[in-house]
Amino acid sequence: MKTISILGSTGSIGVNTLDVVRQNRDRFSVAGMVAGNNVVLFAEQIKEFKPSLVSVYNLSKVDELKELLQGLDVEILCGEEGSIKVATHPDSSMVVSAIVGSAGLVPSLAAIQSSKDLALANKETLVIAGELILREAKNKINLIPIDSEHSAILQALNGEKKERIKKIILTGSGGPFRTFTKEQMANVTIKEALNHPNWTMGAKITIDSATMMNKGLEYIEAKWLFGLNTPVEIIVHPQSIVHSMIEFVDTSVIAQLGIPDMRVPIAYALTFPDRIECSSLPTLNLSSIKQLTFEEPDYEKFPCIKMAQDSLEIGQSMPAVLNAANEVAVQAFLDNEIPFKNIAETIHMAMNNHTPHSIDSLEDVKSADQWARQEVKQLITVTTH
Ligand code: NDP
Repeated sequence: MKTISILGSTGSIGVNTLDVVRQNRDRFSVAGMVAGNNVVLFAEQIKEFKPSLVSVYNLSKVDELKELLQGLDVEILCGEEGSIKVATHPDSSMVVSAIVGSAGLVPSLAAIQSSKDLALANKETLVIAGELILREAKNKINLIPIDSEHSAILQALNGEKKERIKKIILTGSGGPFRTFTKEQMANVTIKEALNHPNWTMGAKITIDSATMMNKGLEYIEAKWLFGLNTPVEIIVHPQSIVHSMIEFVDTSVIAQLGIPDMRVPIAYALTFPDRIECSSLPTLNLSSIKQLTFEEPDYEKFPCIKMAQDSLEIGQSMPAVLNAANEVAVQAFLDNEIPFKNIAETIHMAMNNHTPHSIDSLEDVKSADQWARQEVKQLITVTTH
């Protein structure tokens, strides 16, 4: 029996993680859970999975949650302190990090520092603080990616030596605007951008997929997980069946294939290096899919990919600035404050205006993150008024 805690249980990854637990009650139990705002769903989850400690980030939701859980034997906390307490729950041996955005960093770091294995969905953590996270995790915990591409790479690497990798081939669906012209993309609506062809995910990552920033963030994530010097090639694969590949030094390419369902990489992360039966999921039927196609990404139409690559190349605080600028710009788009094309433009301006500084501590990451948030808010105010 493995006891886990879930940060972000009410989100897309959190709900899928709980489904894996539900299907495997004899293997997993839940010690702690964190949510942001959605206390109605959170209360249902708490009643079903009976963790001993829970935390809701939004302080103003605590009373409502307490009311919904009246009579239940569970400790209820709030805010970032509460997330940290859940991440370091003494009963859990693994933490699923599935809060969205840079808010996931502090509790993920706390989990590592208290020697919990980390099943990481929150890619932003590695983007903004890769070096810090790896330094803390080294020789102490297993850091296992949940992102389907990175799970695929981990699976393709199984039993192989990292030094034998020639390059990582990171696949991506291309998002809803893969076939759009630049002109068509200028006028896309929020609804169109939220309509991902293959995956059902939270709003932020869905918009990241539409701008292809998601692939840029995953490029950085792959570099930290599998070696900064390992070449990573991005390739568009609209069917989302080949989740990524590794080319080895002898030119052999090993790929991991499967249906696009996050419960597969989540189950793998929870049981790594073992596997469990996922009998409730449909199996891959290649003869009905018929064609698997691949194409080069259009870097001009999707400038966010290159910006992410550049931020890693520049290093220091630049990836944290890219990430925070992206978070604010995506939210502004979702709030109807800026058009789709301004997401990339705003991030570009923020990066141009930033003087990189070294990242030696959590405070350094926070300061770059805060700087970028303020900068982007100002840029948006200037361009919209
Ligand atoms: P969602 O938006 O669906 O869920 C986010 C979760 O985080 C919710 O439980 C939300 O709570 C919670 N949350 C938000 N802010 C805070 C905060 N400050 N403190 C505590 N909890 C908070 O996102 P996804 O599940 O789609 O994505 C989560 C992470 O996983 C992202 O980093 C994403 O990039 C990554 N990922 C997601 C994939 C997917 O298929 N969805 C695939 C690969 C990676 P509430 O809803 O209650 O407000």
